Amino acid sequence: MDFDDRNSNALKVFDEKMKKEIVDKFSIYSKYRLPCDNWPQIPQSFRRYKEIWDYYPAVDTEAYKEEINKALQSKKKHTCPKECACCDLNTLGPYILEKQTWKTDCPGRLALVECDESCGCDLTKCKNRSISSKLENNFL
Ligand SMILES: [Zn+2]
Ligand SMILES: [Zn+2]
Ligand SMILES: [Zn+2]
Repeated sequence: MDFDDRNSNALKVFDEKMKKEIVDKFSIYSKYRLPCDNWPQIPQSFRRYKEIWDYYPAVDTEAYKEEINKALQSKKKHTCPKECACCDLNTLGPYILEKQTWKTDCPGRLALVECDESCGCDLTKCKNRSISSKLENNFL
């Protein structure tokens, strides 16, 4: 038996094990199967996502209203230097899945918020504004 034979034999064994694994897994669901005339069913209408811009808390007391508005407000404020890592796509940095954040020197990006007028970076060059810049385009 040479290397290729052993190799194809190992692949065959692996294939059979995978097939058995899939059959076993799906056999759990077989009792939930339902007869269906047209499969797959593709939905014809979709619910549209609607952004809410004019939310007013419908509560009686002013204090409660204030409390709700406060809860809805984002408190994540950050300060970027004028020449920040967010001003160039090459220095903006990739997303690190294990750490659930970006590998970057931009304080805004690190805090998982977009840059805005108050953070201090150069907004004409800033690349950390993908959502807000798209919104601005929509309003034009
Ligand atoms: Zn920045
Ligand atoms: Zn910023
Ligand atoms: Zn920025």
